[in-house]
Amino acid sequence: MGAMAKLAHRVIVTHQLPEEWIADLHENCNVLVGPPTSEVAGLSAELQRHLPSADGLLTLLTVKVDAKLLNKAANLRVVSQMAVGVDNIDLNACTQRGIPVGHTPGVLTDATADLAMLLLLATARRLLETNRDAREGRWGTWQPERWLGADLAGKTLGIVGMGAIGQATARRAKAFGMNIVYTNRSSKPDAAREFDATRLRLDELLTVSDFVSLHTPLSAETRHLIDAAALAQMKPTAILINTARGPVVDTDALVAALRAGQIRAAGLDVTDPEPLPPNHALWSLDNCVIAPHIGSATENTRRKMAQLAVTNLLAGLRGERLPHCANPTVYEK
Ligand code: NAP
Repeated sequence: MGAMAKLAHRVIVTHQLPEEWIADLHENCNVLVGPPTSEVAGLSAELQRHLPSADGLLTLLTVKVDAKLLNKAANLRVVSQMAVGVDNIDLNACTQRGIPVGHTPGVLTDATADLAMLLLLATARRLLETNRDAREGRWGTWQPERWLGADLAGKTLGIVGMGAIGQATARRAKAFGMNIVYTNRSSKPDAAREFDATRLRLDELLTVSDFVSLHTPLSAETRHLIDAAALAQMKPTAILINTARGPVVDTDALVAALRAGQIRAAGLDVTDPEPLPPNHALWSLDNCVIAPHIGSATENTRRKMAQLAVTNLLAGLRGERLPHCANPTVYEK
C-alpha cells in the first residue's frame, strides 16, 4: 500500500463490518462506522450529518446512493459498494460529479452460482415441501408415486445473462448433464463454445427451457423482464430460478403463475420487495423456495467482498483508477 498519512481521509462505512475485513481502511483513514445492519438498512441519521466532510463512502446494497445523498456530500471522491450489483446507486449522478463507483465482481461468482444450483435442485426435488411433510407426520411409507420431482440430466437450462455468474451456473449444470441455451445483450462466443450453448432470443429461450435461471443486473431494461407474458411463454413443467435481483421478475405475475400451475415452481434468492414480509403470498406457496438474499453469504466470500471494497475505496482516495469500477466512463471526462 502506498504511503497515506493516517487521518488524511475521512471515510464513512455505512454499517458495522468485522474489523478484520476492513483493517486496511482503519490503518489508513479516519473511519466513521455506522450501526449494525439489524438497526437500520439505509444510511443512519447520524452518518448523514457527517456526509459533508466525507471523502469516501463504503456502502451496502441497502443504501440508496442517489443525487439527494450526493448533494450533501460535496467532498466525496469515491463510492465503494460491497456487492457486484449497483442498482441502488445512481451511476449517472456519480459520473456527473466525477465520482468513480467501485463494486466487487468475481469474488462472489462461485458462491452465487452454488446458490443458484441449490435452488434448482431444491425446487426440482421439492426439498422444503417434502421435508415439511415428513417433519409434520406425513411420511407414511415409501410410496412409488409420491413426492415426484423433475430430472436435471438431459433437460435444458436457459441462462438469462451469460456473464460471470451465468457462466459459473452453466458450468455446474453441465456437470449434472444439462443442456444449455442462453440469452444475453452481447454474443458470448467463448461461453457458447464451452457449454455448447446456442444463443436465443428471450422468447425462444422461455419456450424451450425446462429451467430458466436469471443472471442479469437490474436495470431499466431488465426490470420485470419476467412478467406475465414471459411466464405464459414458459412450459407448464418449467422452473424459474432468480439469484439476480427481485424486480427482474414481476412478483404479482409470478404468484399468479405459481398458483395457477402455469409453471411448476420457482426458486428465489432475491425478491421484490426485500425483505419479503412474513405474510406475503409467496410464502404460502408449496412450489416456491425462498432464500433471504444469501447468494454471496459464505465467510470466505463476504470477507473477500469487503476487502475488495476497501481496495477500491483506497485506490479512489489516492486518485488512482479503481480496480473494479462500475462507471468507467467517469474516467473519460
Ligand atoms: P456480469 O458478469 O456483469 O454479468 C451480467 C450479464 O448480464 C452480462 O453478460 C450482460 O451482458 C448481461 N446483461 C446485462 N443487461 C442485459 C440485458 N438487458 N439483457 C440481456 N443480458 C443482459 O455480472 P455477474 O457478476 O454475473 O452478476 C450478475 C448480477 O447478479 C449482478 O448484477 C447482481 O445483481 C446479481 N448478484 C446477486 C447475488 C445474490 O446474492 N443473489 C450475488 C451476486 C450478484 P453484456 O456482457 O453484454 O453486458
